[in-house]
Amino acid sequence: MNKLKPCPFCGGSNIFEGNMLLKNRVKCRDCNYDLPIKQWNNRPREQALQAKLDTLRLAYDDFDRVVNLETARLQTRIDELEDTKMIFRHLLEDVDKEIKNILSIIAPAAGKGDPLNILTKSIKAAFELDDERTN
Ligand SMILES: [Zn+2]
Repeated sequence: MNKLKPCPFCGGSNIFEGNMLLKNRVKCRDCNYDLPIKQWNNRPREQALQAKLDTLRLAYDDFDRVVNLETARLQTRIDELEDTKMIFRHLLEDVDKEIKNILSIIAPAAGKGDPLNILTKSIKAAFELDDERTN
């Protein structure tokens, strides 16, 4: 006979196989339950549940693998987008510096008054400054 499984009622392993009084039976010393030896290890419900559990574990492992792959893929995409964001941030900083640089050149020549007039004057002044530099 195969090795006896733990008690089907309390899970205990303090069991013994038949003696003179308990012929062809197995008894648990913890809960005093006893069964015929042939039935002690026969647990169709437990075996069916174990088979379902094994199937679910395999399905879970597959799912877990897919989730991990997808997580890694998304993390790579997030990293790419973060890099792109940094590039745009640096470009914006460069443009901002350039605008401040241009304003520092044209502001003194702008004077006061209508904003459009100021801008026109400023642009003209900037070109004149540019002409003076090239000449
Ligand atoms: Zn028991």
